[in-house]
Amino acid sequence: MTVTTPKTDAVLLAASDLARSVLEDVAEPGTIGAHLGMDLLQERLGMHWFECTSPGYRGWRWGVSVARVSRAKVATVCETNLLPGPDAVLAPEWLPYADRLAPGDLGAGDVLPFRPDDPNLEAGFEATGEEDVDQMAFFELGLGRPRVLSAEGREVAASRWYDGDHGPTAEIATKATAHCTTCGYFLPMAGALRATFGVCANEWSPSDGRVVSLDHGCGAHSETDMDHPEPMPIGEPIVDEFAVDLEPAERANRDAEDRDVEDRGEESHGSDDPVTD
Ligand code: SF4
Repeated sequence: MTVTTPKTDAVLLAASDLARSVLEDVAEPGTIGAHLGMDLLQERLGMHWFECTSPGYRGWRWGVSVARVSRAKVATVCETNLLPGPDAVLAPEWLPYADRLAPGDLGAGDVLPFRPDDPNLEAGFEATGEEDVDQMAFFELGLGRPRVLSAEGREVAASRWYDGDHGPTAEIATKATAHCTTCGYFLPMAGALRATFGVCANEWSPSDGRVVSLDHGCGAHSETDMDHPEPMPIGEPIVDEFAVDLEPAERANRDAEDRDVEDRGEESHGSDDPVTD
C-alpha cells in the first residue's frame, strides 16, 4: 500500500500565529520577519517559514515545524530552526588544515609536514645488504637521497612546466621568432627531462633562471636581432637672424638706454619752446 502525502493541511496551515509566538520565545528580538509560507513535509507534519531579518544572517530563514495527531483539529509546535535559504551567505566548506596550503604559499621558515606516501616520490636507493656495494652506490653514483622523483612525479612536473608561463603556449613564446633550443642562453638539463626542458640563463628574459621547454622562446633569443632605426643626420645649424633674444641684464640696460634717450628728447624739446614772459 502506498501512502500519498496530502498537498496541504488546513489545521497546520492555520497555525502560523502559533508558530510565530513560539519562535518569539527563542529568536533574537526583532529578527523575525514576514511569514514566507508553509511546506507540508509529510502527512500531519509541516514547516512554517519566516524571514530572518538579522543583518548577520542574510538569506537565512526561521523554520518552525508543526504537527498534529490524527483527526485532531489543533496543531502543536515540534521545534524551531534557523536554516540557510537558497541565497544565504554561508561559510566555505571546512577544509582540513593539512590541505589548506597551496603551491606557492610556502614562505621563509615554513616547513611542510612529511608525507611518507607522496605519490611524486619513490625510494631513491634500495640497499643490497652488501656494505661495499651500497657504499659504492652512495658515493660513486650519487644515490645519497632517501627518495627521488617517481615516474608520476616527473610526469606531473613536466605537464605543469610545459603548460605554464615558460612553455610553448605562453604568449611570449607564440610571438617569438626562434625557440630556446637554438638559443645560446639555453642550459641543457641532466636527467630524464632533458629531452624536453632546460634552464634559461639570460638576465634579459622573463624566463631567466626558470625551466623552459625546448620549444619555448622569447625576444631575448641570442641569435635574433631587430632593425635599429637610422640616427637623424646632424646638419648645419639654422640661425634666425630676425629674432633677438634678450638676456635680463641686457634687457635692463636696454630699458635704461631707452629712458635716457626719451629724457634727452624731452629736454631738447623744452629748450626750443618759445619764452612766453
Ligand atoms: S633567452 Fe629566451 S629564447 Fe633564450 S633560452 Fe631564455 S627564454 Fe629561451
